[in-house]
Amino acid sequence: MTRLLALLRIGAVALFVVALSACDSGSGGGSTDSGGGGSSGGDTGGGSGGGSGGGTEDRNSLGFSWHAPGDLLPATGEGVEDWEEYVVPMTFPVDSHETYLNSQVHSPGGGGYGGGSQCDAANYAYPWRDTFCELRSGTNRATRNCPSTEVHQGVDIRAGTPAICSAQSSTSNTTHNTIEVVATEDGYISYIGSYTVNLNAGGRIYRYMHLNMAMLDVALFDDVVAGDRIGFLSNHFGGTSTTLHLHFEIKENLDDAGFTYVSPYMSLVRAYEQKHSVIGDLVE
Ligand SMILES: [Zn+2]
Repeated sequence: MTRLLALLRIGAVALFVVALSACDSGSGGGSTDSGGGGSSGGDTGGGSGGGSGGGTEDRNSLGFSWHAPGDLLPATGEGVEDWEEYVVPMTFPVDSHETYLNSQVHSPGGGGYGGGSQCDAANYAYPWRDTFCELRSGTNRATRNCPSTEVHQGVDIRAGTPAICSAQSSTSNTTHNTIEVVATEDGYISYIGSYTVNLNAGGRIYRYMHLNMAMLDVALFDDVVAGDRIGFLSNHFGGTSTTLHLHFEIKENLDDAGFTYVSPYMSLVRAYEQKHSVIGDLVE
């Protein structure tokens, strides 16, 4: 989709909102998982517990807002302005809690931030920020559309609240049992590694990383239906830990290139809006 079309769509959505209003009645290191092709390597956010507070919600019952696709944090790489909604409809991969897409490396508590706590309220607040193509030094992960080669091939999703983060980051993995991660489409589990679970569904591959691997709800080759729980959001990273978050990837089977990483960002924006029956604000 072209940016023009996307803007037209946003304009239409804005008109829709106006119409509604008018009648309103109401990382710390780790190894790599290479299953299913590719070697994303996950995240090295690291980070510690602590922190308090929370976001506020005062619009559309949620206050959801998001930066444009490809609008990465300054000096964290060059993103791709990909407005394509590769999967519509898609069940949002995190159930029961609000979620926040942002950088695990360059936000408070991340290895590239220089201090702070991963549980800082700033990490559990809108707007969302894309991290597809964010720079990851050390490994060539050349990815379609990403200008650089050492890049992040998915996006990172925090969920819950600073209080939940504090409770979970300071205790054992057995408490990582509240934030449910679910199947995005009907399909089957095609790979389970030390910190990665692959779901083959809809002709594509979804890759979920950093789940609580000790409490998975699925086994290899299990069939799942969209919305079925796969496991719980955690910080597992193959023997070490990263920040509490879900690293989420989509590999499309493209005619000219086979299974290829694509930006999951706009698919997630639309899925989140549908899940919560809201229309988010695009932050310019
Ligand atoms: Zn990630």
